[in-house]
Amino acid sequence: MGKLTSFKRSLWVFHASGGSCNACDIEIIAALTPRYDAERFGIKLVGSPRHADVLLVTGAIPRDFADKLRRIYEQMPDPKAVVVIGNCGTTGGVFYDSYNIAGPIDEIIPVDVYIPGCPPRPEAIIDGIVKAWLKIEKLEKELEGKKE
Ligand code: SF4
Repeated sequence: MGKLTSFKRSLWVFHASGGSCNACDIEIIAALTPRYDAERFGIKLVGSPRHADVLLVTGAIPRDFADKLRRIYEQMPDPKAVVVIGNCGTTGGVFYDSYNIAGPIDEIIPVDVYIPGCPPRPEAIIDGIVKAWLKIEKLEKELEGKKE
């Protein structure tokens, strides 16, 4: 894993909740609001995937949400990264093998970072977002290399 030397720009995140019990979602909010305050580093929730660098996904993803999740992913500009938050999205969690679940999420869209936990703590969420940031920086360098 590379080292994050500086923040060149803000990192905008879009949150998609697919069948989550809401606890993972609350921990995302906890990571962004004043106690942990990831926003001070420019990590900011945005209202459209078209503006987002990172997709945060929670929940086991019911079948009727799978296509919507694919569309959200496709609308994001490159380079982009996907972070799965919680056991439900990572493995199916307590819904594993359920008849109405299309997840785990990596069977629907590519995933870059997994944050296990039920729910994971805000520290783990921030750590996962930083890992996604490193991935995006690497992809940006690769894209710049192709332009030269
Ligand atoms: S991983 Fe746990 S806390 Fe997160 S959505 Fe699933 S059941 Fe809820």
